[in-house]
Amino acid sequence: MGKPLRWGLIGASTIAREWVIGAIRAQPGSEVVAVLSSDARRGTDFARAQGIPSTYTDLDALLANPEIDAVYISTTNELHKPQTVAAAAAGKHVLCEKPLALNLADALEMVAACAKAGVVLATNHHLRNAAAHRKIHELIRSGAVGKPLFARIFHAVYLPPHLQGWRLHSRGAGGGVILDITCHDADTLRFLLAAEAIEAVALSQQAELASGELEDGVMAVLRFDNGVVAQLHDAFTVKYAGTGLEVHGTEGSIIARDVMTQRPGGEIVLRNGSGETAVPVEHENLYARSLRAFNAAVAGQGQPSASGQDGVRSLAVALAVQEASRTGRRVAVRYQ
Ligand code: NDP
Repeated sequence: MGKPLRWGLIGASTIAREWVIGAIRAQPGSEVVAVLSSDARRGTDFARAQGIPSTYTDLDALLANPEIDAVYISTTNELHKPQTVAAAAAGKHVLCEKPLALNLADALEMVAACAKAGVVLATNHHLRNAAAHRKIHELIRSGAVGKPLFARIFHAVYLPPHLQGWRLHSRGAGGGVILDITCHDADTLRFLLAAEAIEAVALSQQAELASGELEDGVMAVLRFDNGVVAQLHDAFTVKYAGTGLEVHGTEGSIIARDVMTQRPGGEIVLRNGSGETAVPVEHENLYARSLRAFNAAVAGQGQPSASGQDGVRSLAVALAVQEASRTGRRVAVRYQ
């Protein structure tokens, strides 16, 4: 049983509204106390619509509120680092959105600041909380595919019109599909394979949505330190592909469909010498599970489902894919 937490939201964002506020409130005794927006009107509208008692436009004022135990940071990506460092200095626990930062040095500084302040830092990688992914993890660990050789991630989706803003047009805010989606793939593969990516090659695309230097699609290949080679296809521009994940090993293949999503769901099939078996999954809200683990970690019971260090590592992989796609070279993943 985790500790009930009183939350301050840093960012009047879509993800907070659609998923995270509900997940916070699903934890017994936990509540959302305040929201920070850079725009007073947007903040008050958001607070009224979401039933949040107070709003702030000044970060220091929110962080000075002694009623707040923890903050959820879901602003645009360039703000995550200064806001996390300030929250840690104020003694608040931090659940931060991915990518943690725009470069590795900033992400490492965030981890160090939270460690120094003795507060929990978690990265909101929702997918490793999905019951489907946890089942695939269990299958791989139990030897169901033998030695894993290859993985394939199908994460090419269509960015909904209400999100077609900074992700497509602002490099300064950390836009582009690689920072947005590839970092989720990287975290998912690290979790499933219990391995680290060591090198990347990639080709990106700017099709019809993104502008400037930003990509709206990418295909990448990663090599992991256990020998697995993984192929990723991420996009904002693909309407009808559907999502999926496959792991192919010496003794079997796991084929999962509709599992790279925010919604609980999807199907898993195990294919091997005995034929094809549908694997049952008891689905659960991904964000509620993430918040449950966070509350437990604050109470000293275990770790958040994805830690700050996990956020550093998924960012490192995304940055390697970004560099590979920009230079056309094979790039080693740097974690320091
Ligand atoms: P939004 O664009 O909805 O929100 C980001 C910021 O944009 C807000 O903090 C807000 O600033 C500002 N904003 C929101 N609505 C408007 C508007 N109508 N006009 C002008 N500005 C506005 O982003 P998302 O919710 O999609 O993403 C936020 C973060 O969450 C990102 O880091 C993203 O990568 C991450 N994310 C994670 C997901 C996950 O499953 N883990 C899924 C989706 C996003 P202000 O706060 O100042 O009002």
